[in-house]
Amino acid sequence: MVNVKEIGKDLIKKINDVRPPADDRACGKIISSGDGIIHISGLHGVKYNELLEIRGGYRALALNLEHDSVGAVLFSGEDKVGCGDFVYSTGETAHMRVGEELLGRIVDPLGQPLDGLAELTSTETRPVEFPAPAIMDRGKVNTPLQTGILAIDSMIPIGRGQRELIIGDRQTGKTAIAVDTILNQKDENVICIYVSIGQKASSLAKIVNTLRTAGALEYTSIVCSTADDPVPMQYLAPYSGCALAEYFMYRGKDVLIVYDDLSKHAVAYRTMSLLLNRPAGREAYPGDVFYLHSRLLERAAKLSEEKGGGSITAIPIVETLAGDISAYIPTNVISITDGQIYLESELFNSGVRPAVNVGLSVSRVGGSAQRASIRNISGQLRVNLAQYRELAIFMQFGSDLDAETQKMLSRGAKMTDTLKQRQYLNYSVRDMLVLLTVSQSDLVDKIPEKKIVAFNEGLLDYIRANHASLYGEIDIDKKLSEELKNKILSVAEEYINCSVGIEQSAPAAASGA
Ligand code: ATP
Ligand code: MG
Repeated sequence: MVNVKEIGKDLIKKINDVRPPADDRACGKIISSGDGIIHISGLHGVKYNELLEIRGGYRALALNLEHDSVGAVLFSGEDKVGCGDFVYSTGETAHMRVGEELLGRIVDPLGQPLDGLAELTSTETRPVEFPAPAIMDRGKVNTPLQTGILAIDSMIPIGRGQRELIIGDRQTGKTAIAVDTILNQKDENVICIYVSIGQKASSLAKIVNTLRTAGALEYTSIVCSTADDPVPMQYLAPYSGCALAEYFMYRGKDVLIVYDDLSKHAVAYRTMSLLLNRPAGREAYPGDVFYLHSRLLERAAKLSEEKGGGSITAIPIVETLAGDISAYIPTNVISITDGQIYLESELFNSGVRPAVNVGLSVSRVGGSAQRASIRNISGQLRVNLAQYRELAIFMQFGSDLDAETQKMLSRGAKMTDTLKQRQYLNYSVRDMLVLLTVSQSDLVDKIPEKKIVAFNEGLLDYIRANHASLYGEIDIDKKLSEELKNKILSVAEEYINCSVGIEQSAPAAASGA
């Protein structure tokens, strides 16, 4: 006969012996997996953007929180993770490792080193997604961020805390401007972060090499996701870079962050969204692609003095197709940022490098941050260049030009040449003042047209070698006095007279008469 009492005792003992599972985190099961996307059922209480853990140490990011399942993207192990695998919630959203230690290092968007150097020991992290500083916490953009590029600093000045877009077709020198700007921060006490999104590893290697050789890596951190990284890594990269920038900004430092480039970021996000079955909108981007970039770029700010006065200057890069700046992503980012530097293939190919189209480029807040000396001397530059361009178009129709017009054309061409600048050749503010003073004076008529670039470089070397005290007299925060201008001009004239390479040319006016 079955002893009911015994069975009852047995059951009670068994129940008491049951131990809680080794892992008491919320757990679910993968019900579908493919293309790096997994759907999990039974996983409750997960947050948006939460990191999930799968057996074998693989990780995923929860992005679609649906009624009966969770959609997540895998960071790795696409071919190792399959249906039936258990997925655990970690309770934390994606975090980026932060700290001074990251300067000079190349890390992935989760803060893991990629440069093969020593392990990072910093345990401090910041959430990858973080609210932008409130209006009351912000200060006025009033300090210039010198790019060292004459065309930009004179006509499209950037202030610390500003967001200035670099936009242009492929191979128009977008990255070159960003890299030159980083190189120019060497003695400016600005920490730089270069975020590479979906670029070729070889292009990135070149940039790293340039920065290292120039000694710029000491104050630069590189957050990297290359073209063959899984899309969630590419998606996270700019936010991670921004989290690192915030770490420095909230400590009162000035930071420059370059996002190279946001077109590829939008494409990575589109890929993820389409795989997650989100509805597609214009150009197949999901509906929230504006928010994707606005929440990122809003985090760039100049903090008020009470908040430490730190700043993040953001330079996002966007690639256009056939110069179409009215496409979806370009218009979005143009409307989010405080101005854009528009680069043109035509200019680039005709030798005007940096290929900045001055007419279509603008800086909406940098003017108030521009150095008084530069602002004063470059006020007329934009108008003069525009007039020259109009005139140059007319010139195509007829060759019978009066002397005055010829002179204007010649001066315009020389001004355009003055704005040409080699890569990695950064001008200091004083260099710029000298070049702007000379190029807008009557002295340029003495320099042959094709020789302007060489003349400018030679002149600066000449001043450094023979008239070093002249630079000491220039106060970059004040308008140049007439006396100082005349001094600069007389040194330039002296250089023209003594330089061997530059043959004297007859003034354009005389030749035209
Ligand atoms: P991509 O679309 O491939 O990212 P990009 O627009 O970032 O290209 P860069 O890679 O910066 O363009 O530059 C393209 C080429 O032009 C490079 O070989 C670079 O060395 C050259 N270049 C850029 N700026 C200048 C310059 N000011 N003077 C001379 N060469 C330049
Ligand atoms: Mg580039």
